[in-house]
Amino acid sequence: QCQQYDVVIIGAGAAGLHCAWQAAARGLQVLVIDHAKQAGKKILISGGGRCNFTNMYASPENYLSANPHFCKSALSRYTQWDFIALVEKHGIAYHEKTLGQLFCDNSAKDIVRMLLDECDQYGAKVKLRTEIQDVSHDGEVFNINTEHGAFVAPKLVVACGGLSMPKLGATPFGYQLAEQFGHRILPVRAGLVPFTLHDETKQAFGELSGLSLDVVASNERASFKEAMLFTHRGLSGPSMLQLSSYWHPGETFSVDLLPGHDAMQELQQLRQQKPKQSLHTALQSWFPKRFAQLFADQQQWPERKLADCSNALLAEVAQQLHHWQVKPNGTEGYRTAEVTLGGVDTDELSSKTMQSKLQPGLFFIGEVVDVTGWLGGYNFQWAWASAHACAESLALN
Ligand code: FAD
Repeated sequence: QCQQYDVVIIGAGAAGLHCAWQAAARGLQVLVIDHAKQAGKKILISGGGRCNFTNMYASPENYLSANPHFCKSALSRYTQWDFIALVEKHGIAYHEKTLGQLFCDNSAKDIVRMLLDECDQYGAKVKLRTEIQDVSHDGEVFNINTEHGAFVAPKLVVACGGLSMPKLGATPFGYQLAEQFGHRILPVRAGLVPFTLHDETKQAFGELSGLSLDVVASNERASFKEAMLFTHRGLSGPSMLQLSSYWHPGETFSVDLLPGHDAMQELQQLRQQKPKQSLHTALQSWFPKRFAQLFADQQQWPERKLADCSNALLAEVAQQLHHWQVKPNGTEGYRTAEVTLGGVDTDELSSKTMQSKLQPGLFFIGEVVDVTGWLGGYNFQWAWASAHACAESLALN
């Protein structure tokens, strides 16, 4: 015995839940299916448990995609202010942490509860702990066979997310389903993920684990002025996570350890004012002692008085401080990545509706699509906006 719905959504995450209640609010019978035992697991752990649910400055420039124009329509039709209005309607207190990033004052649970309340209010059903066995289309409707029975609907929304954090239930199911219906998947890789260092460097910097510096990290594609954190595996912190999305294996990137300073000029001044001070001690005017010492040792800078340091040596020091070259061994991968880059090729989707151009009635929203945001609430904003574009169009035809 098949149960019939107007829309079946696979994935009770950010995008799936937000799409479900909005489609139901437009009068559709909606069922959300998820294999997890809890809805919105990633929302719950996001933002250190406080969910960085959007960003006040979200705009298309904050997203990576093979087609940078694809995200524009959905983002402009459902903005951060629309989501903020929903959060306020539910009386959820929030604050800006930094750089326009909005977090719940209390807990990420508030956001999941809000989405589930909206689903309840409009009668969208959420079915958890349900493995999907197969999906087919018979020319008219989609048949979704699960361990708990079969479901039929003329519209199917794939909101299965990406591959990051398999422990939280991430699977490649969304990509597989897309391929089944003839879609191209652009190569996927971990994004917003810490870098690992080669053994030698890792050991050397390992003792700095926990130390954070404000830097500018750049390569030829992007540049981020945020904190960098030393870990026992390598380098993390917002600047590193951000740059990881723009990095490819084997590449080197550059770190300005003294943004806003002119190291050469300041070293020359110091040499005049404190000629007896050693070069290593001079570095401590900018950095914590343990970093200054270790970095100077790493660079094999001589432990000599500033008075005895030539301009050439100071220039070399300044160059390294402003352009420290880092060649990571790799990244920590999907285990700790916040997002998956790549995914369902946007060329085969409508940017207005998120509908497949290959299979009418099939939609892809959220992270499974090749649209990936920066760190800072941008990924949720894409989930909300793409879900909204999809829900609007589900109701229209
Ligand atoms: P998800 O929220 O991942 O939902 C996908 C759903 O599909 C899941 O419920 C999953 O169980 C289900 N599913 C998967 N496979 C199957 C299957 N085979 N059958 C049935 N169901 C399936 N972004 C921000 O903007 N701000 C943050 O603060 C933030 N913090 C993060 C912290 C961490 C640790 C991580 C990992 C990510 C964070 N992100 C953050 C990114 C954000 O969580 C995702 O981009 C967002 O959740 C994507 O929404 P989605 O609905 O597409 O996918």
